[in-house]
Amino acid sequence: MIISNKLRIGALLACSEANGPGRRFVIWMQGCEKACRKCINPQFQDIKGGYEISFEMLSKKIKRSIEQYNVNGITFSGGEPLYQAECLCTFVKQIKEEIELNIFMFTGYTYSELNEIQREVWDMCEMIVSGSYMYDQKGNTEKWLSSSNQKLSFDPRFEELEVFNRTPSEITIKEDGSIIVTGLIEDTQLIEQIKNSI
Ligand code: SF4
Repeated sequence: MIISNKLRIGALLACSEANGPGRRFVIWMQGCEKACRKCINPQFQDIKGGYEISFEMLSKKIKRSIEQYNVNGITFSGGEPLYQAECLCTFVKQIKEEIELNIFMFTGYTYSELNEIQREVWDMCEMIVSGSYMYDQKGNTEKWLSSSNQKLSFDPRFEELEVFNRTPSEITIKEDGSIIVTGLIEDTQLIEQIKNSI
């Protein structure tokens, strides 16, 4: 099997405090087949959307983010990170060899639903939120859950990083002028008002 040295991603954020404990480099992976009702990030569902980025370029960006912002971890969100499990597995192995960083993954799957390669990715993560997003159960956003049916699993050493001390939401204005709103803001009207006032 030939495994590409690229990932298809929807968006990147060099530093976030609203996507896992501490300061994190966030990668929203492109592609998801779960089709949860009222999906949180529908723009990341289409596997043909987003753009490809090489492992080399991604690794450079992560290293730059460590220098600039002192990030201590990477968060894979989406979309569904495990949709590209083969490539993601190779990338995570590679980046863990290069840099000491913890990995946090948001996946719509539970461990029992995964194939071998997807489990390999799972096993390399220090922190995971798993399970489909259920709109009817949304509202329990403690412990990084988007809906209360989901499960948080984490390596015990994450206690040091105050796992449950989360920044609820964050607005980032990127160098190119684009605005990323991330975290727990659910009031879409408020988001538009904020964007228009910047
Ligand atoms: S798993 Fe996430 S990205 Fe995929 S459909 Fe569900 S909410 Fe949307």
